[in-house]
Amino acid sequence: MPTWRCVQHCGACCHLEPDDRPDLDQYLTPPELELYLSLVGEGGWCIHYDHSTRHCRIYADRPRFCRVQADVFQDLYGIEASEVNDFAIDCCQEQIAGVYGHESPEMDRFDTAIQSLEKS
Ligand code: SF4
Ligand code: SF4
Repeated sequence: MPTWRCVQHCGACCHLEPDDRPDLDQYLTPPELELYLSLVGEGGWCIHYDHSTRHCRIYADRPRFCRVQADVFQDLYGIEASEVNDFAIDCCQEQIAGVYGHESPEMDRFDTAIQSLEKS
């Protein structure tokens, strides 16, 4: 079974363009929505995203809505723990397709990683 994992040098989910996520107000609290919008920078990318390394500059302190965790997904999206894996895979594939494209190297790397039994 594919197992979700985040791959290095992706960062697709740090493209926060609100026009691409019209239902933000349905799962973020008003303070979280305010925080989210405050992070949107040039080209729709998060202001904390380092384009050269494709890493988050505030990873340890990143907001709750950036965290792929069962408890967070349950709270935000009403997803049961048993469904988090498949939901997270769908989210990443959707985001990677939107940012880099369905046929992109990023999508290839993600699809390969989730099939791998090795921990990345
Ligand atoms: S879209 Fe998924 S794989 Fe890419 S950086 Fe975000 S969590 Fe990681
Ligand atoms: S805070 Fe970090 S993890 Fe969250 S969107 Fe910004 S760069 Fe990405």
